[in-house]
Amino acid sequence: MPQKGQQLDLTSDDDLAEASRSRVGNRFLGIHFVCCDVYSRVYANREQTAYVGNCPRCAKRVQLKIGSGGTDSRFFKAY
Ligand SMILES: [Zn+2]
Repeated sequence: MPQKGQQLDLTSDDDLAEASRSRVGNRFLGIHFVCCDVYSRVYANREQTAYVGNCPRCAKRVQLKIGSGGTDSRFFKAY
């Protein structure tokens, strides 16, 4: 049984996010959605091959591949 009550700064109760975080670290990126000028997070997909998320306002989909460019940046813009 997974143990609850070990959340850090995240308010999400998403078990997938929690599982991926414990396995590979903080697998999310901060994204600035230029389309709506809002900031949000996107999380790694189940295969850990890309960060996938949607704009919280217009639901525009973004996808960023993991490990291809070697960037360590944690912040991106989505146009
Ligand atoms: Zn948008």
